[in-house]
Amino acid sequence: MTQNYQDILEDIYHETRPLLGQGRVADYIPALAQVDHSKYGIAIETLEGKSYQVGDANIPFSIQSISKVFLLSMVIRVLGKKLWSRVGREASGTAFNSLVQLETEHGIPRNPLINAGALVVSDCLCTFSPQPLRHLLEFVRELSSNPQIQYDSLIANSERKFGHRNAALVHFMKSFGNIKNDVDEVLNIYFHQCALMMSCVDLARAFLFLANEGIHPHTQEALLTPSQSKRVNAVMQSCGFYDESGEFAFTVGLPGKSGVGGGIVAVVPKRLSICVWSPELNAKGNSLVGMKALELFTTKTGISIF
Ligand code: GLN
Repeated sequence: MTQNYQDILEDIYHETRPLLGQGRVADYIPALAQVDHSKYGIAIETLEGKSYQVGDANIPFSIQSISKVFLLSMVIRVLGKKLWSRVGREASGTAFNSLVQLETEHGIPRNPLINAGALVVSDCLCTFSPQPLRHLLEFVRELSSNPQIQYDSLIANSERKFGHRNAALVHFMKSFGNIKNDVDEVLNIYFHQCALMMSCVDLARAFLFLANEGIHPHTQEALLTPSQSKRVNAVMQSCGFYDESGEFAFTVGLPGKSGVGGGIVAVVPKRLSICVWSPELNAKGNSLVGMKALELFTTKTGISIF
């Protein structure tokens, strides 16, 4: 089906702008609270190499938990199925930073897209990569074909200073033997991945390999096997929005991932990827305008995986 994505993006942008002001910017990481609330952008990148953008689609923002998908991809590529003995793949039904299930489930996090799971995945990267932060930066730069991507050290330091919950999670899992490396090293990787600065265009590009059975659409490099790519999409579908994952499947119907910086990326298998950024969040920690924009996108285009 041929779609006029540019017209559709502009319609969505104008229809959803009145919602700005209804959410709340994350302020539990003080450096994140500095962001301009009114920023709003959307970008689409297609497998055919077309780009569509509206609003602030080229401004880098803190990608926060969207980075969990990059880490998961890097680790699944090396460890394959072995990863699943350390972390589950079931929706948690709890907040992204919750500790409650970990005690009864013996330090095995429900899935890799909540904080506990991403900390285990960071630990795995720390084990096999001699320079994990450099390795991650190279990976995202290659994915988005943008060598300018950087970590924001102010945000990473702010998270370190106020990240008591993440520290609690990693220490608690270490007590169960599910963290192998030094806790501070693992936290350093985790806080930096969250502090990656990327624009909607960068993110839409970077997720395209997941719409393409794991193959980088420009270099044709197989980054994941088709089966691994399918698994990453499945985990995004069931766990990408914490305890709003069911709602995202219900209203949007695509695999995706959000972050408390206000970004959301979604994948249309074999076709495109789309990223929305609006920093104000809803009560579940997902971008309020972003959720609505993506709902309108799949409604207006008739696209859905279901
Ligand atoms: N850095 C954030 C945290 O660990 C990431 C959470 C998110 O984006 N949901 O609390």
